[in-house]
Amino acid sequence: MTTLDALIGNAAAVIVAHADELTKLDSAIGDGDHGANMKRGFEAVVADLPNHDGKPAGEVLKAAGMKLVMTVGGASGPLFGTLLMTLGKELGETVDREAVTAAFGKAIEAVMARGKSERGQKTMLDVLIPVHEALAGGADLAAISQTATDSAGATIPMLATKGRASFLGERSIGHMDPGARSTELIVASICTTLENG
Ligand code: ADP
Ligand code: MG
Repeated sequence: MTTLDALIGNAAAVIVAHADELTKLDSAIGDGDHGANMKRGFEAVVADLPNHDGKPAGEVLKAAGMKLVMTVGGASGPLFGTLLMTLGKELGETVDREAVTAAFGKAIEAVMARGKSERGQKTMLDVLIPVHEALAGGADLAAISQTATDSAGATIPMLATKGRASFLGERSIGHMDPGARSTELIVASICTTLENG
């Protein structure tokens, strides 16, 4: 199994294991489908991996992103899908820290364009952007993982101004954003896999 297959497989397993928690978070400030959406999408991505055996990392990521767009649904499907597709498109032959940091930055920009969203609106971007900053700043895996956890926690007091949670206005305050939590879970899983690899 390639490192990328392990990274995707382990992240999917973590999402599946936390599907109920993600659903609960989304029930509080959304429509309660985030856990099921993400579980469906990541299971489809893992099932599709053998069809991309031997392809370069960029191609595998593009295919995974497309699968997410097709299967996750909701607002988060096209956004996580765009993230992976852009990451795949931007990653060249060399997959080192510098290349991943640059590609991840472009991928976040693509998510912001697609979601017409920015930092501070209580979304997945409130984890993605700090994690990118930690990566760019030279943080080690443990610090990157901690940044993801802290950033997801920091969405609790935020007022949602994008996505379904924004319909609740002030009542969105006091709950963790489900997309921020799923992003945290994925980032933490990636760090653990790389640390053990
Ligand atoms: P839906 O809101 O359509 O039910 P999900 O429940 O699967 O979709 O996903 C909700 C998550 O998507 C939110 O918690 C938030 O993190 C993220 N999200 C929603 N809209 C946006 C946006 N415009 N930009 C960035 N992230 C967003
Ligand atoms: Mg939802």
